[in-house]
Amino acid sequence: MSRFLSERLKALEPYTPGEQPQILNLIKLNTNESPFPPSQKAASYAAAEAEKLQLYPDPECRRLTEEIAKLVGVDPCEVLVTNGSDEILNFAFMAYCDSKKGAAFPDITYGFYKVFAQLGGVSYTEVPLDKDLKINLDDYKGINKTIFIANPNAPTGIFIEPEEIEEVIKSNPDSIVVVDEAYVDFGGRSCIPLIKKYDNLLVTQTFSKSRSMAGARLGFGVGSKAIIQDLNTIKYSTNPYNINRMTMAAGLGQLLDEEYTQANCKTICDNREYTKTALAELGFEVTDSKANFIFAKHPKIGGEKIYQGLRDRKILVRHFNAERICDYNRITVGTREQMDALINAVKEILREEL
Ligand code: PMP
Repeated sequence: MSRFLSERLKALEPYTPGEQPQILNLIKLNTNESPFPPSQKAASYAAAEAEKLQLYPDPECRRLTEEIAKLVGVDPCEVLVTNGSDEILNFAFMAYCDSKKGAAFPDITYGFYKVFAQLGGVSYTEVPLDKDLKINLDDYKGINKTIFIANPNAPTGIFIEPEEIEEVIKSNPDSIVVVDEAYVDFGGRSCIPLIKKYDNLLVTQTFSKSRSMAGARLGFGVGSKAIIQDLNTIKYSTNPYNINRMTMAAGLGQLLDEEYTQANCKTICDNREYTKTALAELGFEVTDSKANFIFAKHPKIGGEKIYQGLRDRKILVRHFNAERICDYNRITVGTREQMDALINAVKEILREEL
């Protein structure tokens, strides 16, 4: 740290992204990427756009915004496209939290919420998950803070029905509720239709998971026209050209091949259930994940030990040190071959350890 760093930032603990190792032949199941490449259309549209990189991109992302609006059934003025959904989450913290209006989110959830809160000097409340690692929505009713709920939650994968989340939205009419739906395409149901009914709801989604575009950085938010205006104020005050030309073109190509996305989602859901069953048969406790990852612990072998045993066998999963979840590992759902390799590696570890 230099001696010039703002006093405000000296204690900031940045987000630690999952490892992106350069090891050959590694089965990478640690950052919830898709095992499938993006659509051919995404790749060819991006390549064509590369020819025009001397020009700034459309700051309004008109064509892509229209296509997203069509996909999710809202008006284009109710959509804002961002550089990954991380960016729209950051915008939401900037727009709707300050020293007076604090944030509330679960104690076990996407780690970036806490970082955004700290970055903005926002007070925040971490609401404990219940003993089954579920979000207890009653804790949020009438809390009168800006609420962030990942649905499905990460890293548990547990999904809450929109009708239940609606009660939280309804009971906090003077606070924004942000529903982070990064993983909703793997068997969940979106809260987006509720934006027509509530002016305090912002739903965020990403192209990083179900749409195989983590490397392109593309996300979006859906909310009332007024909310989108607020978030645009922040966008135009920080980075008006937040989506580069190639990403914008790739996103459009991907949306024009929705059947491919849906087929991949179905394969991932099938592979998830297959792996959950196999792990349960081996004695693991697995949460009821509706995401593209599995959250699993073994009653007799610690999470770190399993993580390391898998790593030694060139399989990378995500382990968290937080006390409540350190016995678990979060395993991204990959291809059937990758899942079979994982299951075989786990069997070897169990043979060694038990
Ligand atoms: N929300 C959740 C719950 C996530 O796990 C992630 C991915 N790390 C994100 C948002 C952000 O994803 P991206 O910025 O790639 O859209």
